[in-house]
Amino acid sequence: MQIADVQDIIDHEMLSHDEIVNRIHEVAKQIDKDYAGKTPIVICVLKGAVATYYELTQAMTIPMKMDFMSLSSYGSGFESTGKITVRQDLSYDVAGEDVLIVEDIVDSGNTLHWLVGELNRRGAKSVEIFSLLEKPARHTAKVELKYKGFVIPDEFVLGFGLDYDEEYRNLDSIAVLKPEVYKGANS
Ligand code: 5GP
Ligand code: MG
Ligand code: MG
Repeated sequence: MQIADVQDIIDHEMLSHDEIVNRIHEVAKQIDKDYAGKTPIVICVLKGAVATYYELTQAMTIPMKMDFMSLSSYGSGFESTGKITVRQDLSYDVAGEDVLIVEDIVDSGNTLHWLVGELNRRGAKSVEIFSLLEKPARHTAKVELKYKGFVIPDEFVLGFGLDYDEEYRNLDSIAVLKPEVYKGANS
């Protein structure tokens, strides 16, 4: 809760910094085991996954390559439009490569469903996902998460990379936005 005035817009803290980081480190150990002998391309889905990506990759001990992709499905609203656009593409050709996608949250599943399909079309040898958060109540497009941090209720959360109207990504924990804040907004 290090950001000034964050208390004005949040209802409560959902996950502390230590809880989040400890869980990411557990996942990193599992990934080290599962990818032993391989050199995966680990993709950060910008911008929401940056904090998770940093903690994960610092904790990994196997060889890996970093790449970044920016997709848009939400804009600054609260509901996924279902139409995905690539704002910034990968720098690597993933054909024949083991690819691990790192995401902040799966809500409708539209974004990841599209991305997994796209990486398979490009000829990736394997495609797996680590999402820090999952809102299972909302899944409409099927995605299989090999790795996940926490399953959370259907509430709008911010912090640890996740934004509220592009701000608060640098909050070091995850918090629930006050319902009156988004009920009052256009979505
Ligand atoms: P999906 O395509 O699965 O519906 O949504 C994917 C993206 O929507 C996420 O990567 C994230 O950027 C955004 N999103 C979904 N739920 C939340 C939420 O509770 N808080 C924030 N800040 N972003 C969310
Ligand atoms: Mg995201
Ligand atoms: Mg957003």
